[in-house]
Amino acid sequence: MTLHDPETSIPPESPVVLPRSEHSISRKQIDEDTLKVLYRLSRNGHRAYLVGGGVRDLLLGRAPKDFDVGTDATPNQVKKLFRNCFLVGRRFRLAHIRFGGNYLVEVATFRRQARPDDLPEDPAEHFFVTENIFGTPQEDAFRRDFTINALFYDIKTFSIIDYVGGLADLEARRLRVIGDPLVRFTEDPVRMLRALEFAARLGFSLDEKVRGGIYERASLIAEAAPARIREELMELFRHKVAGAVLRNAQSMGLLEHLMAGYEGDEKTFDLLERIDQRTASGVPIEEPFALAALYLSRFLRTCPAQSEKTVTDAVRIAGLVLSPHCGYFHVAHGIRHQARELLVGFFRFCRGRGRRGERRFLQHPMTPQSLELFSLWCAGDEAMLALAAEWREGLAEAARPQEKKTREGSGAKRSRRPRRRGPRRSKKPSGGGEPGS
Ligand code: ATP
Ligand code: MG
Repeated sequence: MTLHDPETSIPPESPVVLPRSEHSISRKQIDEDTLKVLYRLSRNGHRAYLVGGGVRDLLLGRAPKDFDVGTDATPNQVKKLFRNCFLVGRRFRLAHIRFGGNYLVEVATFRRQARPDDLPEDPAEHFFVTENIFGTPQEDAFRRDFTINALFYDIKTFSIIDYVGGLADLEARRLRVIGDPLVRFTEDPVRMLRALEFAARLGFSLDEKVRGGIYERASLIAEAAPARIREELMELFRHKVAGAVLRNAQSMGLLEHLMAGYEGDEKTFDLLERIDQRTASGVPIEEPFALAALYLSRFLRTCPAQSEKTVTDAVRIAGLVLSPHCGYFHVAHGIRHQARELLVGFFRFCRGRGRRGERRFLQHPMTPQSLELFSLWCAGDEAMLALAAEWREGLAEAARPQEKKTREGSGAKRSRRPRRRGPRRSKKPSGGGEPGS
């Protein structure tokens, strides 16, 4: 029997309970507003647990990103207890309790996995029902993805409650799926990507069954909602594990299904790792930058700098290379445009300085970022890094006349005649030149 089988009831084992004296979580580590919510729920006779990633991270001695609360109070009961409470979500009804500033505590009622007889006849309605059936704390633990994500901290007793063996897995630094990975990955294929993400973020090993499950179910991820995949992909970059996770995803056969037909190469994975280091050093990652990095290699294969290709060609090819991804994931036009500018900038950098249109190019708002991408890609290649340094000088120069103008603007006399910028050009089309500059 598998641990988790929605068609049978959950095994009756009682949880492992660690009393306060046997674990390291102190209330001082939990933020004040979350504590207020936990206490008020508890005072009003409800169970109130800290759940999910917050408990995991505190036990690992890491700073949690946020704290989530689980309770047996229904969303409406929660709403009655807090003036500053709003119910949100159709698929997964949650209570959001707002505090000063933008701070928000998310309170979810314990849920269980739907059983076949829970489902309405109309399949279109399944989606809304499956995530909204309230359950016991134990059932709530079993519906979660990984054992380390299913630990509870009980505000009434200050103890940790573990129904799924998460404490042992934290100890062993091992990522294990709750129940049978084959079943859980079929239910929600995005869990395969999350498995790789958590293993990389925490430095945990993947349980053998998780690994086997990913090999076997990889192709299912192509059916996941594009919006979720897009969000999870950006989460990888924000958590500074894009390089490691996508490298792993490729070796496990997941990547090609994640982004239809995508094939990364060593240089791309190295680049992504350097981008992760850049994010770790405090530079926020933005989607156009991530996209340009993912598709840079493919772009350079179609549009090598040492060819007859013009800037106009580069613009067209960059558009073509990004188009399937942006179309499938509904990436907004502005983001797509910026990613394209980053690639075209890269092409211009490769060809060296002194080309037509350089002045305008150096003043383009995307050029500094494109140069960053270029420098990251060139790491380890002395000649290319020297080229990057030349371009950096160019950028500094381009910024200088601007300063001069502002100084001159305040009083200094200037000739009224506009300055000529070079020999007059014929108005006839030049043929073979580089439009688009
Ligand atoms: P972090 O917020 O640090 O990335 P987290 O563990 O809080 O990590 P979230 O994505 O915020 O992750 O999800 C909160 C919790 O919801 C998880 O800890 C897990 O218990 C549960 N969960 C999230 N996604 C799934 C899923 N696809 N299937 C089952 N449970 C999930
Ligand atoms: Mg979270």
